[in-house]
Amino acid sequence: MTETSTATDRDALRAQVVEFEAMEAAAERAERDAAAIVRIVAIVDTREWVEDEERDRWIPVPGTGDARDCDRCGRLHEIHATVETADGGLAVVGVGCAKGESVEKPLRSAASSAKTLARLRAQLAAAKQTAEREADIRAEVAALRFPDERVTKGRVDGASIETREVDGVSVWLHGLDDIDRVMDTLRDSWRRREMHKRGLKSHRSIAAEVADIENRIARSESRIDEITHPNAGESTSTAPASESAGRS
Ligand SMILES: [Zn+2]
Repeated sequence: MTETSTATDRDALRAQVVEFEAMEAAAERAERDAAAIVRIVAIVDTREWVEDEERDRWIPVPGTGDARDCDRCGRLHEIHATVETADGGLAVVGVGCAKGESVEKPLRSAASSAKTLARLRAQLAAAKQTAEREADIRAEVAALRFPDERVTKGRVDGASIETREVDGVSVWLHGLDDIDRVMDTLRDSWRRREMHKRGLKSHRSIAAEVADIENRIARSESRIDEITHPNAGESTSTAPASESAGRS
């Protein structure tokens, strides 16, 4: 009698343990489900990007960003993804912290655009600074008084040649040449050299470069926007996508 009752007690106890474990597993699952990332709300690369002139590329500087404790892994992340979880809450996580979840791929893609965006913004600031410096140089050189040119007359191959020279920049003047045009050329060459002396080395248009960077920033922003607002107006989301097929 006692033996049977002990066996029954043991069975009952075992059943209780099984039930408890099932409840615990269900609670764990529910917690995991509630924490599942359902939407990427925003993403930002908070690091500073600087130009590595030697290698002609831009690089992020670790530690310059806003290092924030991750809501998921507890580590510090400088690229912050604000995400919505299944329970409706918001969390800030790192790029690698959605491993195995449905948003893993879009999050990586958004992070890549966020990095591009941070780099482009640093490039834009630098290009604008260069534009300002170049405008100053142009204004300074434009205000310079054109020095008196030195005129040398001579003969080359029996023809009379006149040389007009200013600070080592010279033009030849043949008898039939339009003196005003030749003098314009001399002034232009001299001005270009004065600008070069002041550090304006290239002839590319910095204004065009600024505009180009601004276009690429707009494309990166719209790529992030497509990920954070996937269902926003179909008509507006197709335009930037086709544009992004070009340069990146
Ligand atoms: Zn994390």
